[in-house]
Amino acid sequence: MKKYDHIVVGSGISGLTMSLLLAMSGNKVLLIEKSPIIGGSLTRFNKRGIPFDTGFHFTGGFHEGGILSDILTLLGLRDSIEPIFLPNSSQNQFIFESHGKRFEHPCGIENIKNSFKGYFPAETSAIDRYFEKVQSVCNRTPSLNLRENAIGPPNLEEDYISLDTVLRKLTPNELLRGLFSGYAMCYGVRPDEISFANHSRMVLSFYESIAFVKDGGDAFVRAFTEKFKDYDIDISCSTYITELADIRDNKVGRFVLNTGEEVLSDACVFTIHPKDILGLLPEKNYSKAFAHRISAFEPSLGLFSAFATFKPGSIDQNPDASIVSIFPDADVNNLLDPAYNGVPALVVVKSPNLGNGGTGKGICIVEPSFGEHVSNWIDSKRGNRPEEYLTYKHNRVEAIKEHLFSVFPEFRETLDFIDAGSMLTFKDYLCSPDGSAYGVKQKMGQFNLIGKLPLHNLFAAGQSSLLPGIIGAMMSSLIVGRAIVGKEHYGKILDGTLCH
Ligand SMILES: Cc1cc2nc3c(=O)[nH]c(=O)nc-3n(C[C@H](O)[C@H](O)[C@H](O)COP(=O)(O)OP(=O)(O)OC[C@H]3O[C@@H](n4cnc5c(N)ncnc54)[C@H](O)[C@@H]3O)c2cc1C
Repeated sequence: MKKYDHIVVGSGISGLTMSLLLAMSGNKVLLIEKSPIIGGSLTRFNKRGIPFDTGFHFTGGFHEGGILSDILTLLGLRDSIEPIFLPNSSQNQFIFESHGKRFEHPCGIENIKNSFKGYFPAETSAIDRYFEKVQSVCNRTPSLNLRENAIGPPNLEEDYISLDTVLRKLTPNELLRGLFSGYAMCYGVRPDEISFANHSRMVLSFYESIAFVKDGGDAFVRAFTEKFKDYDIDISCSTYITELADIRDNKVGRFVLNTGEEVLSDACVFTIHPKDILGLLPEKNYSKAFAHRISAFEPSLGLFSAFATFKPGSIDQNPDASIVSIFPDADVNNLLDPAYNGVPALVVVKSPNLGNGGTGKGICIVEPSFGEHVSNWIDSKRGNRPEEYLTYKHNRVEAIKEHLFSVFPEFRETLDFIDAGSMLTFKDYLCSPDGSAYGVKQKMGQFNLIGKLPLHNLFAAGQSSLLPGIIGAMMSSLIVGRAIVGKEHYGKILDGTLCH
């Protein structure tokens, strides 16, 4: 039987971060992944030689002193990953079709304020107060500070007031409220369900800077894999835990894997969906209240994705990278409501990455989706889905095309749609229970599953534990990881990197 200090379950950005942090503190780590390849949402796929992103398009926090830059520096990876910043403010746009308005969204809080004040001259004080509030929440949030140790329930007043309530108090202008809520598509929760605090923690880094990454999520996977060579980390793909055995004094002694192997380990960190963690724990080892808490978690928004490229010989008339959010309704609560039956929102992401040999450029268009859209085929598997499902997918792509062409008529002649992914596609590829884009919905007042589990050598981290997006997922692993390795070891890593 092999013996490790720690097992890490799931190899998305959370599991990669966790494995490296534990190993940097001198531990022998086994990283197990249910899929045949590591990377989770970071992995890209190729169609006609063009790389497309599964679940990572762009991020904030890459600027000098930004949180992602600091996390990567701490992990010794900053130089291995190359951000490609949006070249100018016209490359990030929000279009409100209901009002026939198009807004450019620059980066840098002062730039955004100036730009918004130009669009809404009567709302200058609301604009100032909104950004003050966002910054104030982030300044008071320990989980955004790499130097603090913070696992605990939400603790700010703003954790218990919704984004929607704050915005309605700030301004009667629904377009401005729509702009302030625009990044809700990046965390998948309605403004009347997310706390103002979590909204602020998610959006501040996008306000400060937005960057794509050269080679997308593959660059992260490559950088981590290369770094792992310096440490004692084994990776096992197509592997998952089937049984937690030899439980004594509330601790698991032996981990039985689907491969037939059995592994000894002092501790195990799960970076997978909380419902899948619950499914592994023996019933006698947790309370009814615990089970109830986890079962009550709702899924975040799902994303239906269409993937397109430029037809041979056609020219991208605007070759820079760009992000365009197209909202048919200014009330983002409606757009993220499963009961909404209007035209869905679209986010069009044109990445700067060229395909092999510069042959093509991929465009990804995502649309909100909900479990209800695919519930009829929830038990079907990739490659073996009924005709009805294929028709659903086809019709959705056709509707996306028509919506997109109504905004960008030039795309009708130039774009070729080559693939699409529904929530079921994400469910299968990411081994998730529901195919949601961001794991558990981060509802106001919710007590997430983070840190120590009812069996005391098991821990939970990952996007559902703290906040989604690669920053939230990495921070969840740093917070839980530093509690596991202890202040002293974590302090040494900090001193050797960030405080250097
Ligand atoms: C379409 C889409 C677009 C997105 N765009 C962005 C973006 O532009 N920027 C951004 O920051 N974020 C984006 N996100 C969100 C971001 O991808 C996630 O928040 C983040 O990557 C989650 O990382 P994770 O490691 O927690 O989970 P995952 O990446 O889901 O990794 C979990 C891993 O665990 C594995 N696993 C599951 N069950 C088991 C098991 N029982 N045993 C072993 N392994 C298991 C899975 O196969 C998977 O590899 C997007 C998400 C989607 C779906």
